[in-house]
Amino acid sequence: MAATKVLKKKAPVKKSVRPAAKPSQPAQRIAARPSKTASARADLAPDRIAAILRGLDEAYPNAVCALDHKTPWELLVATILSAQCTDVRVNLVTPELFRRFPIPAAMAQAPIPDLEDLIRTTGFFRNKAKSIKGAAQAIVERFHGEIPRTLAELITVPGAARKTANVVLGVSYGLAEGVVVDTHVFRISRRLSLAKGDSPEKVEQELMRILPPNKWIDFSHQVIHHGRQVCIARNPRCNACNLEQLCHSADKTWHS
Ligand code: SF4
Repeated sequence: MAATKVLKKKAPVKKSVRPAAKPSQPAQRIAARPSKTASARADLAPDRIAAILRGLDEAYPNAVCALDHKTPWELLVATILSAQCTDVRVNLVTPELFRRFPIPAAMAQAPIPDLEDLIRTTGFFRNKAKSIKGAAQAIVERFHGEIPRTLAELITVPGAARKTANVVLGVSYGLAEGVVVDTHVFRISRRLSLAKGDSPEKVEQELMRILPPNKWIDFSHQVIHHGRQVCIARNPRCNACNLEQLCHSADKTWHS
């Protein structure tokens, strides 16, 4: 029997399941959505920063440090005591503290229990008593009783980290080696998109890059006042804020 030639059927060609490419977005829509880089650049545009600084000058022309003090030494102690405490509370305890121990040499000899009793209401009083006594001893032993005038020296004093050192240098000596970043400056710099850092140190570096050095001292005082009076942490009073039109914060409570 002649062999029958079996013809194999060709397998059907599978259709591609890949979805058809979407039509490209209209050029207009793409242009309306600025990239993150572009919006960050706009946030830090010199004109915008100048407008914010102008607004702060107008709202707080005479902003000064709220800690009562007569000397750089008193300011150093008051600033150490102000950690996790209000300036009002610190101002209640410092008159008696400085009456008893008016200069570093006196406080260097103070009994720790006496210091603790005097500053008890400022919180963390045991650590703070050790810090102010340690600061007094360092000032006497290493700096001849004078408060140093450089950041590098000041941050070696017990209890004086970068923020405290910046406060003392700026307020007592008018020296701006950095920007004071307390809780208000940290929060508001981020709300105003002037900084993105997740620590006071990072925010300070960002502010130092974008603010003119002759505004470093005033900026902190003004923003601290703004944070106490208007740009409050939980419920900012945006309807009373003269920076409202410059602010794009997600937690704004009012939009003009
Ligand atoms: S608009 Fe509101 S969130 Fe923005 S800076 Fe002013 S008070 Fe703060």
